[in-house]
Amino acid sequence: MSSRTRNLETALRQAVTDGLLGEERPVAGFVDVRGVRDSVAGLHAAFAGVPDVLHAFAAKACPLVPVLRLLADAGTGCEVASPGETRLALDAGFAPERIVLDSPAKTRAEIREALALGIALNADNLAELERIDALRPAGSASVIGLRVNPQVGEGSIGAMSTATPHSKFGVALRDEGARERIVDAFARRPWLTRLHAHVGSQGCPLPLIAEGLATLHGLAQEIDARVGRRRVTSLDLGGGLPVNFADDTVTPTYDDYVAALTAAEPALLDGRYQVVTEFGRSLLAKNGFTAAVVEYVKDAGGRRVALTHAGAQVATRTVFMPESWPLRVSAYGPDGTPKRGPRVPQDIAGPLCFGGDVVAHERPLPELAEGDLVVLHDTGAYYFSAPWAYNSLPRPAVYGFLAEDDGSAAFVTVRPAQSVREVSEESGLAQADALLTGFAAPPPP
Ligand SMILES: *Cc1c(COP(=O)(O)O)cnc(C)c1O
Repeated sequence: MSSRTRNLETALRQAVTDGLLGEERPVAGFVDVRGVRDSVAGLHAAFAGVPDVLHAFAAKACPLVPVLRLLADAGTGCEVASPGETRLALDAGFAPERIVLDSPAKTRAEIREALALGIALNADNLAELERIDALRPAGSASVIGLRVNPQVGEGSIGAMSTATPHSKFGVALRDEGARERIVDAFARRPWLTRLHAHVGSQGCPLPLIAEGLATLHGLAQEIDARVGRRRVTSLDLGGGLPVNFADDTVTPTYDDYVAALTAAEPALLDGRYQVVTEFGRSLLAKNGFTAAVVEYVKDAGGRRVALTHAGAQVATRTVFMPESWPLRVSAYGPDGTPKRGPRVPQDIAGPLCFGGDVVAHERPLPELAEGDLVVLHDTGAYYFSAPWAYNSLPRPAVYGFLAEDDGSAAFVTVRPAQSVREVSEESGLAQADALLTGFAAPPPP
């Protein structure tokens, strides 16, 4: 058994003992604190040969303030893409100069705030650069970059691919006249010093990512040559290292990533350019799991169905795109010990009111019974931390854990479970009468 599975099972048993999972608390997310630190250490080690590097964790992969603060403590920066994520990063304690703002549709207010605080930002397009021209205070400390789309093609998941010919992100580099326009943009702006590209996330093979980033490096050299002086001082290499969801093995590794980049462009990481990375999923996915109680089991059309409390509210992508986002599911007894016995194909369904709310179809597992637990593996990024509010299901609690070799585990609350009262409050409770009597007074601006 891998140490990851051993820690998971230690945490699961202890969570049941401590009452964090059970009839009253039918679903929760768990983050392996030591695992997160180990993953960050592995990232730093892989880039140890690069003189100046900032690893900006992509906040959307796990937008939880205590997790972000853990990452800040472990030495990462933070990549953010909305006013909410910027707030989380600041509240987590990231220094503004270690925050990179990549919102695809930045408002003037968002740009103004970033420039005032000294947060780095990457303009998505040339029109955004013109807004920055107008808004940038003379002494702004913000590093400013331009996002380009190297248009190297798509990976196996279209929605996760950002370097396709028609991607909504960045300046499309292969479009006619684009290189000239980009060079001109840098020539006219001494404060524009960074190039950014994010080739894609899950499903994008390493060689495709490396090809896109090698293109970025070539563009930086072309800009410097054509402007006639050093303009580009840093390259922001995006994120997107794919995660293996099939078993506990971490593959590809950050070492593989560095090797692929170096193979595609030997000078990419040689220190001429400061480097920024923006990994999200690869840092957190395998350091988290979701556990849920089996409420009922039944048979339907000759198939066994387990109705659990983990469905599309915590595994949205998996439910809607099961081929692209398959998850490993394991079966445990009510006490959190592994279920034994012959494997029977079972649908692992969730609690939402639509027929497709199934996280695993005909999955061979020891036969589940009421009160058992199911675990969704590798869900530390983009799953319980990004819940979906369908059916007014409350956001589940998230716990951080430290599992010990003696079989015990300690927990802290990362995010408390949302109460049904809070669900109502965020659904307009304070405005309950608005549609009956509210028109007498106009709404506040
Ligand atoms: C989502 C995103 C990332 C992180 O991608 P992962 O696949 O989670 O590593 C990095 N950079 C940008 C610009 C992103 O949008």
